[in-house]
Amino acid sequence: MAMDSFPEAPSRPPTGAGPDPDAMADPEVGHADLSVDERLRLVQRRIADAAQAAGRSPQAITLVAVSKRFEAERVLAAHRAGLVDFGEVRAQELTPKAAEVGSGVRWHFVGRLQRNKVSDVVGLATLIHSVDRLVLAEAIDRRARELSRVQRVLLQVNVADDPAKAGVSEDDALAMIERIRQLRGVACEGLMTIPAFDTDPRPAFARLRRLRDQARSRFPEIQHLSMGMTRDLEAAVAEGATIVRVGEGVFGPRRADSP
Ligand SMILES: *Cc1c(COP(=O)(O)O)cnc(C)c1O
Repeated sequence: MAMDSFPEAPSRPPTGAGPDPDAMADPEVGHADLSVDERLRLVQRRIADAAQAAGRSPQAITLVAVSKRFEAERVLAAHRAGLVDFGEVRAQELTPKAAEVGSGVRWHFVGRLQRNKVSDVVGLATLIHSVDRLVLAEAIDRRARELSRVQRVLLQVNVADDPAKAGVSEDDALAMIERIRQLRGVACEGLMTIPAFDTDPRPAFARLRRLRDQARSRFPEIQHLSMGMTRDLEAAVAEGATIVRVGEGVFGPRRADSP
C-alpha cells in the first residue's frame, strides 16, 4: 500500500461524558483505535520523512518494535504486516513470548540484563542492545561460547550522565569496547542510548553519534547507533540512528496496569 493512501485517523464522536482520554494521549502514540497495521505504516512514514529530511535512505534504519507488556498476538499482527524485528526488556517476558510467536521474527533485547538471565537471552536475541558493564559482557561471552555462537551486542552509553539510567560513561566507552573486543564469544557492533526523559534528546543523540564516529575510526565494526523511541525518533534519525526502538507508536498506548 502506498504511503500516500494511508487513511486519516478516524475522528471520535463527542461523548459529553468527561474528558476524552485520547485528548490526553501523546500525539505520537495516536488514537487508541488504530490497528497495529495502521500504526506501523504511520511509524514507517515518520521514519521515511525524517530520513528524507536528513538526506538519508530509510533502508539504513531498522525499526525494532518494542513489544514489552503487549501480548504475543500484537507481535503476530505486526509480523503479518511485514515487521521482522521486535524488542523486549525482560528475559521473563521474552522467553514465553518468543515461544508463542514462533519462527520468522528476530528478537532484540533492549532492557537491563541481569547476569542470572544471560543464559535465557544469549542465542535467542539477535542483538543485545544493553551491555553496560564488563561482567555482563563476560557472562554473555561464556554462554555464547558454550553454544558455539558469537553474540552480537551494543554498548549502552549514558550520554546524559543521568543517574537513573544504565550505561557506561562517554569517558569509559572506548576502553570498554577495547575489552569487549577481546571476548571471542561477543561481537560489539555499536552503541545504544536512552536520553533523559525531560530534556531535548537531540544533543544526547549527537553526542552518541560523535562517540560512535570516534570509536569507528579505531574499531571499524562499531557501526550501529540504537537510539530513538516513539516520542523522539525524528531527532534520532536526524542524528544518524541506524536502529530505532519504537513501542507505543507501533502497538498503541501501553496499559499502565499491564504486567
Ligand atoms: C520501552 C522502551 C522503548 C520503546 O518505548 P516507547 O515509548 O514505547 O516507544 C525503547 N527502548 C527501551 C530501552 C525501552 O525500554
